[in-house]
Amino acid sequence: MKNYRGMLIVVSGPSGSGKGSICSELSKQRIDVTISVSVTSRPPRAEDIEGKSYYFKTEKEFGEMINKHELLEWVRYCDNYYGTPKKDLENKLDEGINVVLEIEVTGALNVKKVYPDSVLVFIVPPRYEDLIDRLRGRGTEDEEVIRKRINKAIVEIQSVKEYDYLVVNDTVQNAVSQIEAIIDAERSRVIRNQDKLDKFIETLKEAKKDDRTLNQ
Ligand code: 5GP
Repeated sequence: MKNYRGMLIVVSGPSGSGKGSICSELSKQRIDVTISVSVTSRPPRAEDIEGKSYYFKTEKEFGEMINKHELLEWVRYCDNYYGTPKKDLENKLDEGINVVLEIEVTGALNVKKVYPDSVLVFIVPPRYEDLIDRLRGRGTEDEEVIRKRINKAIVEIQSVKEYDYLVVNDTVQNAVSQIEAIIDAERSRVIRNQDKLDKFIETLKEAKKDDRTLNQ
Protein backbone atom coordinates (compact mmCIF):
# COMPACT_ATOMS: atom_id res chain seq x y z
CA MET A 1 0.00 0.00 0.00
CA LYS A 2 1.29 3.46 -0.95
CA ASN A 3 1.38 6.27 1.59
CA TYR A 4 -1.47 8.00 -0.25
CA ARG A 5 -4.71 6.64 -1.61
CA GLY A 6 -5.66 7.11 -5.23
CA MET A 7 -8.46 9.51 -6.10
CA LEU A 8 -11.84 8.43 -7.35
CA ILE A 9 -12.84 10.44 -10.43
CA VAL A 10 -16.41 9.97 -11.57
CA VAL A 11 -17.15 10.97 -15.16
CA SER A 12 -20.74 11.26 -16.37
CA GLY A 13 -22.46 12.79 -19.35
CA PRO A 14 -25.31 11.97 -21.67
CA SER A 15 -25.05 9.18 -24.24
CA GLY A 16 -23.28 10.78 -27.19
CA SER A 17 -21.28 13.25 -25.07
CA GLY A 18 -18.10 11.42 -26.03
CA LYS A 19 -17.18 10.51 -22.44
CA GLY A 20 -16.08 7.00 -23.44
CA SER A 21 -13.45 8.26 -25.90
CA ILE A 22 -12.30 10.90 -23.42
CA CYS A 23 -11.85 8.39 -20.58
CA SER A 24 -10.00 5.87 -22.73
CA GLU A 25 -7.69 8.61 -24.09
CA LEU A 26 -7.11 9.89 -20.55
CA SER A 27 -6.03 6.47 -19.32
CA LYS A 28 -3.65 6.14 -22.29
CA GLN A 29 -2.03 9.49 -21.53
CA ARG A 30 -1.76 9.10 -17.72
CA ILE A 31 -0.08 6.08 -16.18
CA ASP A 32 -1.50 7.09 -12.77
CA VAL A 33 -5.08 6.73 -14.06
CA THR A 34 -7.04 3.55 -14.70
CA ILE A 35 -10.64 3.00 -15.80
CA SER A 36 -12.89 0.81 -13.68
CA VAL A 37 -14.62 -1.90 -15.73
CA SER A 38 -18.32 -2.13 -14.86
CA VAL A 39 -20.62 -5.12 -15.02
CA THR A 40 -23.74 -4.95 -17.15
CA SER A 41 -26.66 -7.05 -18.32
CA ARG A 42 -26.74 -5.06 -21.61
CA PRO A 43 -26.04 -7.23 -24.66
CA PRO A 44 -22.54 -6.54 -26.06
CA ARG A 45 -22.27 -4.24 -29.09
CA ALA A 46 -20.06 -5.23 -32.02
CA GLU A 47 -17.16 -3.10 -30.77
CA ASP A 48 -17.42 -4.23 -27.12
CA ILE A 49 -14.67 -6.37 -25.60
CA GLU A 50 -15.40 -8.59 -22.57
CA GLY A 51 -13.36 -7.45 -19.57
CA LYS A 52 -12.41 -4.17 -21.25
CA SER A 53 -15.69 -2.46 -22.16
CA TYR A 54 -17.66 -4.33 -19.50
CA TYR A 55 -17.99 -7.67 -17.78
CA PHE A 56 -21.14 -8.91 -19.49
CA LYS A 57 -23.53 -10.79 -17.18
CA THR A 58 -27.01 -12.27 -17.31
CA GLU A 59 -29.63 -10.56 -15.15
CA LYS A 60 -29.43 -13.56 -12.81
CA GLU A 61 -25.65 -13.24 -12.42
CA PHE A 62 -26.03 -9.49 -11.89
CA GLY A 63 -28.64 -10.14 -9.17
CA GLU A 64 -26.24 -12.52 -7.43
CA MET A 65 -23.53 -9.85 -7.38
CA ILE A 66 -25.99 -7.44 -5.75
CA ASN A 67 -26.94 -10.03 -3.12
CA LYS A 68 -23.30 -10.74 -2.32
CA HIS A 69 -22.65 -6.99 -1.88
CA GLU A 70 -20.00 -7.07 -4.61
CA LEU A 71 -21.12 -3.78 -6.16
CA LEU A 72 -20.31 -0.29 -4.90
CA GLU A 73 -23.40 1.00 -6.72
CA TRP A 74 -25.76 -0.23 -9.39
CA VAL A 75 -28.66 1.07 -11.47
CA ARG A 76 -31.22 0.00 -14.02
CA TYR A 77 -30.67 2.30 -17.00
CA CYS A 78 -32.71 2.14 -20.23
CA ASP A 79 -33.86 -1.44 -19.43
CA ASN A 80 -30.40 -2.82 -18.54
CA TYR A 81 -28.46 -3.19 -15.30
CA TYR A 82 -25.07 -1.54 -14.75
CA GLY A 83 -22.85 -1.66 -11.66
CA THR A 84 -19.40 -0.90 -10.30
CA PRO A 85 -17.44 -3.85 -8.82
CA LYS A 86 -16.17 -2.90 -5.35
CA LYS A 87 -13.13 -5.06 -4.61
CA ASP A 88 -10.92 -4.23 -7.58
CA LEU A 89 -11.67 -0.53 -7.13
CA GLU A 90 -10.64 -0.57 -3.46
CA ASN A 91 -7.41 -2.46 -4.28
CA LYS A 92 -6.44 0.09 -6.93
CA LEU A 93 -7.15 3.05 -4.64
CA ASP A 94 -5.02 1.39 -1.94
CA GLU A 95 -2.18 1.08 -4.47
CA GLY A 96 -2.34 4.86 -4.99
CA ILE A 97 -3.83 4.58 -8.49
CA ASN A 98 -6.46 7.14 -9.53
CA VAL A 99 -9.58 5.33 -10.69
CA VAL A 100 -12.06 6.73 -13.21
CA LEU A 101 -15.66 5.54 -13.08
CA GLU A 102 -17.55 6.29 -16.27
CA ILE A 103 -21.09 6.00 -14.95
CA GLU A 104 -24.48 7.67 -15.18
CA VAL A 105 -25.83 10.31 -12.81
CA THR A 106 -27.73 8.24 -10.21
CA GLY A 107 -24.72 5.97 -9.71
CA ALA A 108 -22.37 8.96 -9.55
CA LEU A 109 -24.37 10.64 -6.80
CA ASN A 110 -24.48 7.35 -4.86
CA VAL A 111 -20.69 7.04 -5.14
CA LYS A 112 -20.32 10.59 -3.76
CA LYS A 113 -22.30 9.49 -0.67
CA VAL A 114 -19.92 6.57 -0.03
CA TYR A 115 -16.76 8.46 -1.03
CA PRO A 116 -17.37 12.15 -0.22
CA ASP A 117 -13.89 13.07 -1.48
CA SER A 118 -14.54 11.63 -4.95
CA VAL A 119 -14.38 14.17 -7.78
CA LEU A 120 -17.44 14.42 -10.02
CA VAL A 121 -16.95 15.59 -13.62
CA PHE A 122 -19.81 16.13 -16.06
CA ILE A 123 -19.17 16.14 -19.80
CA VAL A 124 -21.34 17.88 -22.38
CA PRO A 125 -20.85 18.44 -26.09
CA PRO A 126 -20.85 22.09 -27.25
CA ARG A 127 -24.44 21.84 -28.59
CA TYR A 128 -27.46 19.60 -28.02
CA GLU A 129 -27.48 18.71 -31.76
CA ASP A 130 -24.02 17.12 -31.33
CA LEU A 131 -25.56 14.52 -28.99
CA ILE A 132 -28.14 13.52 -31.57
CA ASP A 133 -25.56 13.43 -34.36
CA ARG A 134 -23.19 11.24 -32.33
CA LEU A 135 -25.93 8.86 -31.18
CA ARG A 136 -27.25 8.39 -34.73
CA GLY A 137 -23.74 8.45 -36.21
CA ARG A 138 -22.46 5.50 -34.20
CA GLY A 139 -25.30 3.41 -35.64
CA THR A 140 -25.33 0.95 -32.75
CA GLU A 141 -28.81 1.67 -31.39
CA ASP A 142 -32.23 1.61 -33.02
CA GLU A 143 -34.46 4.73 -33.01
CA GLU A 144 -36.43 3.56 -29.94
CA VAL A 145 -33.26 3.20 -27.86
CA ILE A 146 -31.93 6.53 -29.18
CA ARG A 147 -35.20 8.22 -28.13
CA LYS A 148 -34.92 6.74 -24.62
CA ARG A 149 -31.31 7.85 -24.33
CA ILE A 150 -32.14 11.40 -25.47
CA ASN A 151 -34.94 11.63 -22.90
CA LYS A 152 -32.53 10.34 -20.28
CA ALA A 153 -29.97 12.99 -21.31
CA ILE A 154 -32.52 15.75 -20.74
CA VAL A 155 -33.23 14.41 -17.22
CA GLU A 156 -29.52 13.90 -16.44
CA ILE A 157 -28.64 17.50 -17.31
CA GLN A 158 -30.77 18.61 -14.30
CA SER A 159 -28.21 17.01 -11.97
CA VAL A 160 -25.17 18.90 -13.25
CA LYS A 161 -25.36 21.25 -10.26
CA GLU A 162 -24.47 18.32 -7.97
CA TYR A 163 -21.17 17.84 -9.84
CA ASP A 164 -17.82 19.47 -9.08
CA TYR A 165 -16.68 20.22 -12.63
CA LEU A 166 -18.15 20.73 -16.10
CA VAL A 167 -16.05 19.86 -19.15
CA VAL A 168 -17.19 20.81 -22.66
CA ASN A 169 -16.11 18.22 -25.20
CA ASP A 170 -15.21 20.47 -28.13
CA THR A 171 -12.31 18.16 -28.98
CA VAL A 172 -11.29 14.97 -27.19
CA GLN A 173 -7.79 16.30 -26.54
CA ASN A 174 -9.06 19.56 -25.00
CA ALA A 175 -11.42 17.63 -22.75
CA VAL A 176 -8.63 15.22 -21.71
CA SER A 177 -6.33 18.16 -20.91
CA GLN A 178 -9.04 19.76 -18.77
CA ILE A 179 -9.57 16.55 -16.80
CA GLU A 180 -5.81 16.22 -16.31
CA ALA A 181 -5.75 19.76 -14.90
CA ILE A 182 -8.63 18.84 -12.57
CA ILE A 183 -6.78 15.73 -11.35
CA ASP A 184 -3.58 17.69 -10.71
CA ALA A 185 -5.39 20.47 -8.84
CA GLU A 186 -7.39 18.01 -6.75
CA ARG A 187 -4.19 16.09 -5.92
CA SER A 188 -2.77 19.30 -4.43
CA ARG A 189 -5.68 19.96 -2.08
CA VAL A 190 -4.48 20.47 1.50
CA ILE A 191 -6.86 17.77 2.69
CA ARG A 192 -5.16 15.20 0.42
CA ASN A 193 -1.67 16.18 1.58
CA GLN A 194 -1.93 16.08 5.35
CA ASP A 195 1.05 13.65 5.55
CA LYS A 196 3.36 16.06 3.69
CA LEU A 197 2.17 18.95 5.83
CA ASP A 198 2.74 16.95 9.04
CA LYS A 199 6.26 16.07 7.85
CA PHE A 200 7.05 19.73 7.21
CA ILE A 201 5.67 20.80 10.60
CA GLU A 202 7.80 18.11 12.26
CA THR A 203 10.96 19.52 10.63
CA LEU A 204 9.92 23.01 11.73
CA LYS A 205 9.60 21.80 15.34
CA GLU A 206 13.06 20.20 15.15
CA ALA A 207 14.56 23.41 13.77
CA LYS A 208 12.97 25.40 16.58
CA LYS A 209 14.61 23.13 19.18
CA ASP A 210 18.06 23.63 17.57
CA ASP A 211 17.83 27.32 16.81
CA ARG A 212 16.44 29.47 19.59
CA THR A 213 16.30 32.56 17.34
CA LEU A 214 13.30 30.96 15.62
CA ASN A 215 11.34 31.31 18.85
CA GLN A 216 11.78 35.06 19.10
P1 5GP B 1 -23.77 2.10 -22.48
O1 5GP B 1 -24.88 1.13 -22.60
O2 5GP B 1 -23.87 3.21 -23.49
O3 5GP B 1 -22.42 1.45 -22.46
O4 5GP B 1 -23.92 2.81 -21.05
C1 5GP B 1 -25.13 3.42 -20.66
C2 5GP B 1 -24.91 4.32 -19.46
O5 5GP B 1 -24.57 3.51 -18.34
C3 5GP B 1 -23.77 5.31 -19.66
O6 5GP B 1 -24.21 6.58 -19.17
C4 5GP B 1 -22.67 4.75 -18.79
O7 5GP B 1 -21.83 5.77 -18.29
C5 5GP B 1 -23.48 4.13 -17.66
N1 5GP B 1 -22.75 3.13 -16.89
C6 5GP B 1 -21.79 2.28 -17.33
N2 5GP B 1 -21.35 1.53 -16.31
C7 5GP B 1 -22.02 1.93 -15.21
C8 5GP B 1 -21.98 1.53 -13.82
O8 5GP B 1 -21.23 0.67 -13.39
N3 5GP B 1 -22.82 2.19 -12.98
C9 5GP B 1 -23.67 3.15 -13.40
N4 5GP B 1 -24.44 3.75 -12.48
N5 5GP B 1 -23.73 3.55 -14.69
C10 5GP B 1 -22.91 2.94 -15.58
